[in-house]
Amino acid sequence: ERLIEVRNLKKYFNTKKGLLHAVDDVNFFINKGETLGLVGESGCGKSTTGRVLLRLLEPTAGEVIFEGKDIVQFDKNQMRDIRKEMQIVFQDPFASLNPRMSVSEIIGEPLVVNKIYKSKVDLNKKVNELMGTVGLAERLVNVYPHELDGGRRQRIGIARALALNPKFIVQDEPVSALDVSIQAQILNLMGDLQKEFGLTYMFISHDLGVVKHVSDRIAVMYLGQVVELSEYNTMFKSP
Ligand code: ADP
Ligand code: ADP
Repeated sequence: ERLIEVRNLKKYFNTKKGLLHAVDDVNFFINKGETLGLVGESGCGKSTTGRVLLRLLEPTAGEVIFEGKDIVQFDKNQMRDIRKEMQIVFQDPFASLNPRMSVSEIIGEPLVVNKIYKSKVDLNKKVNELMGTVGLAERLVNVYPHELDGGRRQRIGIARALALNPKFIVQDEPVSALDVSIQAQILNLMGDLQKEFGLTYMFISHDLGVVKHVSDRIAVMYLGQVVELSEYNTMFKSP
């Protein structure tokens, strides 16, 4: 059963050198509960594809069908609701966040913004629960992310992404900035969470080794296009 289908997706940027076809007529689908790997060299359009998929960027053309509906046609209110279901985990979870926010503020922010807690006590309880889910010790609740190592920082980013109970998560180079020893921990965590919550993932990486390890199917991008789409990653997994 399909959760997401992308049809004839395009994203062009106006640049000094002219129109750049960052995403140039891309088609793929992702089934519920699976991981689609999106791999390709730097600059081939992976990140742009992920962002357009969530409408963090407006597509130039094309459809993004999520649970049967084209979200490209959605208005602001509809997008506000659908955004809860679709989250993103970045390579550096705090590049765009206020460095003066504590761990609990970062994880709790989506709950506060969407007003989905009944009281301060209720909010703290949910934040603690999320920290437990991603393996962060309770004593870290009031520290600041820059005081923590990369693995723990990424756990915070994952907890924040989980706060609104999404169905779908785009993982955009989630382990590329981490030490190899910590990469495995974060990959295992994401795999466990997928099973526990029935999550569907798009896993973006330039690292084919990592992509092969985590993906059920793999789309290879080159110059804005999907040039190869494997049915099953039979080399490394049994279907
Ligand atoms: P990848 O994630 O595969 O490294 P990106 O999706 O980040 O690739 O970028 C694809 C292409 O689009 C690159 O040539 C990049 O320079 C360009 N690009 C990305 N974002 C913008 C933007 N906001 N304005 C202009 N060009 C962009
Ligand atoms: P097992 O240990 O049973 O082989 P894995 O944890 O290796 O299972 O992976 C099972 C499935 O979980 C993969 O096919 C993939 O769908 C998903 N998965 C595992 N790790 C990740 C990850 N880090 N990111 C995305 N999907 C993952």
